[in-house]
Amino acid sequence: MAKKMNVESFNLDHTKVQAPYVRLVGVTTGQHGDKVYKYDVRFCQPNKAHMDMPGLHSIEHLMAENIRNHIDNILDIGPMGCQTGFYLQILNNDSYDAIIDALDKTLHDVLDATEVPACNEVQCGWAANHSLDGAKQIATNMLEHKDQWHIVFAE
Ligand code: ZN
Repeated sequence: MAKKMNVESFNLDHTKVQAPYVRLVGVTTGQHGDKVYKYDVRFCQPNKAHMDMPGLHSIEHLMAENIRNHIDNILDIGPMGCQTGFYLQILNNDSYDAIIDALDKTLHDVLDATEVPACNEVQCGWAANHSLDGAKQIATNMLEHKDQWHIVFAE
């Protein structure tokens, strides 16, 4: 790649990765020493597969609500515009294994869910655009490959 860009993922060669995976993108240290750890939680192989929007939207709601039951200091877990993954940001927790464990528990919560939280016009910006079944399919696919989450690049 010719020019180094401002956004870390724009410098990532998306043709070389092997999804699904969980990748530490970077660490930002504040002036008082607090650290924000940002992860690329990739569900789908870039440019080969993606999550359909209703299921992606529902798993976003489910993960956002449930992951906070399993690990402290989650700042955000939000979808990528390319619909292949999420960015997860956490404060002052440097444990990759803790992230993996929290994601595993959270995705099992998705499988057990009977409704999508905050799936209404008061609490969501597009309440009609949800699919619990779609979210469960995404979670199932991700969990089936849990043994590969630590592997980012193809051999
Ligand atoms: Zn929403």
